[in-house]
Amino acid sequence: MDCLFCKIVAGDIPARKLYEDDQVFAFHDIGPQAPVHFLVVPKRHIATLNDLGEDDKALAGHMLFTAQRLTKELGCDAGFRVVMNCNAQGGQTVYHIHMHVLGQRQMHWPPG
Ligand code: AMP
Ligand code: ZN
Repeated sequence: MDCLFCKIVAGDIPARKLYEDDQVFAFHDIGPQAPVHFLVVPKRHIATLNDLGEDDKALAGHMLFTAQRLTKELGCDAGFRVVMNCNAQGGQTVYHIHMHVLGQRQMHWPPG
């Protein structure tokens, strides 16, 4: 499958890995939008948030918990933001779901 994040998970494309287990893979974003900006992806290919099924609820929770745990390691105790973009209008550019985690700068609302 021609998917960038599947290739990163497989090790075919290098990435700055932060964490991996049997279900998820986390790595630094190549174009960071904050001093801390990493992505948490499921190892299994799921194209968009709309493609999550009933059986994926535990996986989605595990992604969120992984994000929370890594923010502690990366010194984001003052706060952080988790974002998932879905489809074109949501700003999604890579069609393998990923959680953006941003920290160590002040976030603003509403986002662009
Ligand atoms: P999105 O626009 O929500 O689909 O986010 C895709 C993200 O993937 C962007 O923040 C990109 O900077 C990031 N990205 C693209 N290619 C790579 C790569 N090879 N390694 C790490 N992050 C990447
Ligand atoms: Zn994929």
